[in-house]
Amino acid sequence: MLHKEVQADFLALQSSAEKAGFELTIASSFRDFSRQQMIWDNKFNGLRPMLDGNGTPLDASQLSDDDKVRAILRWSALPGASRHHWGTDIDIYARNLLPEGISIQLEPWEYLTGHQKPFFDWLLANMKTHGFYLPYREDRGGVAFEPWHISHIPTTQGALDILTPDALRTAIASSNIAGRETVLNQLDWIYSQYVSNVCEV
Ligand SMILES: [Zn+2]
Repeated sequence: MLHKEVQADFLALQSSAEKAGFELTIASSFRDFSRQQMIWDNKFNGLRPMLDGNGTPLDASQLSDDDKVRAILRWSALPGASRHHWGTDIDIYARNLLPEGISIQLEPWEYLTGHQKPFFDWLLANMKTHGFYLPYREDRGGVAFEPWHISHIPTTQGALDILTPDALRTAIASSNIAGRETVLNQLDWIYSQYVSNVCEV
């Protein structure tokens, strides 16, 4: 599922990739609030692995609520603040580069030195002419480096303009996400560190 203004550019990117020998495949596109809340709540409650900045698993039962929120935000967006809510952002990979019996993990090494490297090199050289860029191209101390996450340039800025700190606060306050009070107490910091803190186009 994609925003209707993204569809044509995405299909053009996909067909250009195909000509270059890559079967460009979507791992994840649109996700709504409740889907993101399920991911968030499961991590907060220790039902889904929570990782530190190096990818090492953390024990949720040993962490304060503040620490849990910070650890989750490194790898998963706050419900309401995920760019996947917009239909403009997509996690992609080249299916035909996967070794037999292996599925994509969405881990940086796959794209930097692993089986997805030829596709990632192609993506860096070609995505911009099709209207896409990498909002998490470098680690800015917020969301970790995500080479698989592309964003549609013409439509994302308008979405980010609408997602103000106040709009996010209203959405969280009217939800029942795990750790809600901790999130609300830190919301201005979370917004500047993890929501607006993306790479330039
Ligand atoms: Zn993503």
